[in-house]
Amino acid sequence: MRIPDITIAVDGYSSTGKSTFARLIAKHFDFLYLDSGAMYRGVTLFAQEQGLIAPDNTIDPALEKALEGLDLHFGQGTVLFMGDRNIEKEIRTMEVSSQVSPIAAVPYVRSWVDDRLHAFAASGRVIMDGRDIGTTVFPNAEVKVFMTARPEVRAQRRYDELVSKGEHPVFEEVMKNLQERDYIDSHRETSPLRRAEDAFELNNSDMGLTEEVAWAEGLIRGKFGLLDAPEEIG
Ligand code: C5P
Repeated sequence: MRIPDITIAVDGYSSTGKSTFARLIAKHFDFLYLDSGAMYRGVTLFAQEQGLIAPDNTIDPALEKALEGLDLHFGQGTVLFMGDRNIEKEIRTMEVSSQVSPIAAVPYVRSWVDDRLHAFAASGRVIMDGRDIGTTVFPNAEVKVFMTARPEVRAQRRYDELVSKGEHPVFEEVMKNLQERDYIDSHRETSPLRRAEDAFELNNSDMGLTEEVAWAEGLIRGKFGLLDAPEEIG
């Protein structure tokens, strides 16, 4: 099915499978996939390396000026680069995960990231995942999905992902990190995580990837009048 050059926003809690879903849809419908969380992770890695964030998450205000010299961009598809350095692996560690939400709550960090996301998406036909894509970054996105899944399912997914990357996580710590990030992400003042009023909820706790694609296809067909919109799975 060839669909028009629209913008698709995918938001939701940590480890609900947003990026897996968005990557699949991008491939299926020939869209550009952009992972906004990677940008916040990249800024976090930068702040850590520059010594601008303390172990207690205190952020040095010098970060605002330092961001002027930071170059984060996607290359080789969806790989994040800092200048010419591939940082894809480093931004996925627990060390970065443990400080990314405090960094992402800072208003000047959010506007720095938003400017770049808008520039990356300028050519259209984009699917972007994150926490505030349907509410703040692309409030006019034609299709919005809000993903949820049971906490234990989410923690298991993140745990398996870390193990597959050679890390040695402790399950309880992974669960605690998800809960902390969810709390900070949904309680911050600037662009908190929340479901956009016009977003469709997808609870994928008990779904396989094929079912998720079929659900999205139904949603998109419904949007363009090819079929009725699907039932929400909430
Ligand atoms: O999606 P991912 O888990 O990689 O995102 C890492 C963190 O980046 C989130 O926990 C959240 O604090 C922040 N984030 C955000 N807004 C977005 C995407 C991610 O605040 N649009």
